[in-house]
Amino acid sequence: MSNGHTFTIEVNPKIPRRLARLEELATNLWYSWDRPTRTLFARLHPGLWDAVGHNPKLFLRRIDEQRLVDAVDDQVFLATYNRVLSAYDTYHAEPMRPTGQETLREQDLVAYFCFEFGLHESFPIYSGGLGILAGDHCKAASDMRLPFVAVGLLYRQGYFTQTINSEGQQVATYYDADFDDLPVQPVRQDDGSELHVKVPLAGRQVAVKVWEATIGHVRLLLLDTDLEENTPEDRDITHQLYGGDRHTRIRQEIILGIGGPRALTAMGLKPTVWHINEGHAAFLILERIRMLRAGGLDFASALEAVAVNTVFTTHTPVPAGHDHFAQDMIETYFRDFLPELGLSREEFIALGRKDDAPDFNMTALAIRGSRHHNGVSRIHGEVSARICADLWPQIDPAENPMSYVTNGVHVPTFLALEWAELFDQFLGYEWRHRMSDVSYWAKIDQIPDHLFWSVHQSLKSQMLQLVRHRIAHQHLRNHGSQAHLDRMFRHADPANPNVLTIGFARRFATYKRATLLFENLDWLREILADGERPVLFIFAGKAHPADQPGQELIRQIYHIMHMPEFVGKVLLAEGYDLNMARRLVAGVDVWLNNPIYPLEASGTSGMKAGINGVLNLSVLDGWWGEGYDGKNGWAIKPAPENMDEYRRNKEDSQTLYELLQDQVIPLYYKRDKFGYSPEWVKMAKTSIATLLPRFNSGRMVGEYVSRFYLPAAKAGRRYAESGFANARTLAAWKERVRAAWGGVALRRVDTPKRRIRFGDEVRFEVAARLNGLDPADVVVEMLMTRANKYHIKDAHHYRFSFDRVDSETGEHRFVLDLAPSLCGRLDYRIRAYPAHALLTHPLEMGLMVWL
Ligand SMILES: *Cc1c(COP(=O)(O)O)cnc(C)c1O
Repeated sequence: MSNGHTFTIEVNPKIPRRLARLEELATNLWYSWDRPTRTLFARLHPGLWDAVGHNPKLFLRRIDEQRLVDAVDDQVFLATYNRVLSAYDTYHAEPMRPTGQETLREQDLVAYFCFEFGLHESFPIYSGGLGILAGDHCKAASDMRLPFVAVGLLYRQGYFTQTINSEGQQVATYYDADFDDLPVQPVRQDDGSELHVKVPLAGRQVAVKVWEATIGHVRLLLLDTDLEENTPEDRDITHQLYGGDRHTRIRQEIILGIGGPRALTAMGLKPTVWHINEGHAAFLILERIRMLRAGGLDFASALEAVAVNTVFTTHTPVPAGHDHFAQDMIETYFRDFLPELGLSREEFIALGRKDDAPDFNMTALAIRGSRHHNGVSRIHGEVSARICADLWPQIDPAENPMSYVTNGVHVPTFLALEWAELFDQFLGYEWRHRMSDVSYWAKIDQIPDHLFWSVHQSLKSQMLQLVRHRIAHQHLRNHGSQAHLDRMFRHADPANPNVLTIGFARRFATYKRATLLFENLDWLREILADGERPVLFIFAGKAHPADQPGQELIRQIYHIMHMPEFVGKVLLAEGYDLNMARRLVAGVDVWLNNPIYPLEASGTSGMKAGINGVLNLSVLDGWWGEGYDGKNGWAIKPAPENMDEYRRNKEDSQTLYELLQDQVIPLYYKRDKFGYSPEWVKMAKTSIATLLPRFNSGRMVGEYVSRFYLPAAKAGRRYAESGFANARTLAAWKERVRAAWGGVALRRVDTPKRRIRFGDEVRFEVAARLNGLDPADVVVEMLMTRANKYHIKDAHHYRFSFDRVDSETGEHRFVLDLAPSLCGRLDYRIRAYPAHALLTHPLEMGLMVWL
């Protein structure tokens, strides 16, 4: 019998007038951090809310008309609706809170470029940490009312959806997004038509459509090449996040880097600060130079003018992770762009040169085209300074301009609502405005332990429910038995969440060593054998589909989860996304992270855990190197970097086992008569009190504002005024210095004293051969430290002053009269480097001579 073809039609409800603003709530990503807004939608139809993946826009299209009609008569619902709208309106009307600190002016605009943005699970244009960080950056910028616009790509296929089959194999499924379902809309021109811009690419012009999303006060522009007027190949450029081959990648980076500034220009937006978040967007430097060249500025001056208000953040701790392209690809794609820059092929390629490698390196381009550079934690800042040292060849990496701003997480997004309500009750609503006030958070102590613990337990129950739901779904789909499922869940009981639960969830990249816990199964078995003190491990995460070793980790964990002695003690849940992340970081007892030092640039999931009172058990790497204080979690002190991988894994896993058996498990089970461990609660409170005020995105963006955005905006204006006079001056000066520097040398002309009395002043004198430079073009200085303690960061600096020209030799004499402030044996060195008032960083030229 034939039933014929099935056709589909979607019948959309008419939103009742009384509820009209639901549509506004559904298209402003404010919902991604305002839980009451999401709850409002969920209440209308909880099942549908889950079925549409917490996507409010899609939800409003699919919901049954009758539910909306009923809601209009439901006084309780209406009251909630009004409350949500009132909070929404307050947020959008509230003027900027004065912070006492200077901030950006209204005429300023920060344009923030990133390849991915992780705002909410309903908006899948992110894959992991980088995207979530960018999302949090935008949210904080909105909270702070910064003049801020973000720019990214709108992928037809965001990151994949993960299932795990009965062999433990990850199955990646990509879904085509219908942009009607996403919280985006086309940007329109004054005449109502859609805004399209053209981007030159390998001799052709690609049309790019500009969409926008609203994140509170902030606009996020998203570029899309899937247009009929483009060739099928070009339509594919924005098809998939991190998909395709090297050609896809460079095309995507060109669309973002060249198309982004064009879209901003077409919209009449004139950024005064440009932030390149990871090297993917570095081509924007070229497009901005091109625009200035078109206005008649020479290349070198244009580069200075562009770089001075550009900020570059690197997130990669290994040289191989920095994006790079073969030279012939660069030539192919920039064929008709090159003449507009007025550069020779060699000069162009030199912009991306790094460590004399043949490839064009995006990090090198980003650094050459920016004057503010940072890594994302103290440790990562140091690592990056070393990786990028060749860009300032004569400078010690400890002093070069690579700085750091430690990441933070958006507290309203990741702090569970239950905690926020408890804080309202015991700290008062003001905590929301004192998010970065370290001393304020000691007040956490005032929360009674039992209330604190009951909030934690309630979040743990909710988490267990979600994990059970996911695993049950996956197990039954894979034809597993109900009896086996019950065995797996024996320690995951939402009604009795009293088993110590340790979470590990993140991308399954090999450096994160997801299976370190299983390094010595006998030892682990022993630790888990105590029936009185059970432990449950929950794993989740995705491996990139091209990453075979990463997928092998998933298989191994899956295998261990089904080994008889580990059944019920190790769980692996599929489909890690922002929703599950929020639940896990708030709902487990301990958050485990054990990467290979120093490969965790920052890591942010541990911050999310820490602010929810979940204790970190982590390698002292990335942010935890700064966060750990001895009382707010546990540190796995990493084995030395030069040790081979096999021994490092042995060492680090041994440390992990010892911490588990000697500290973590005993502390958790030191329960008093009320059923919890007071010492554990104390540690959890310390975790919130010490981590929330330091690792929140408000602190992070505040640092970007004061250290980079503000100086960049000011210097940008200063360089641009009077037809870029200062940019020209600096560029010409740099050229003169570069040409002369090879002939610059220092010579000591005084007789060094070997011993003086404290308080005595000594005169030091050097003769400098300046090779045509003026004495004002250089700084001559002494660096002094205690003997044998030479570290450039700890040195005292003393400047020489110019004294006279030596009439015989033509050398410039510099003198320093100094009474050392230190006593004892001292070491000192003398050096010279170029100096100019317009430099952003004193050592940005990378030139230095030592005596
Ligand atoms: C926070 C977060 C990450 C980043 O976690 P790390 O441990 O820093 O790698 C990745 N994915 C999701 C969904 C997150 O919420």
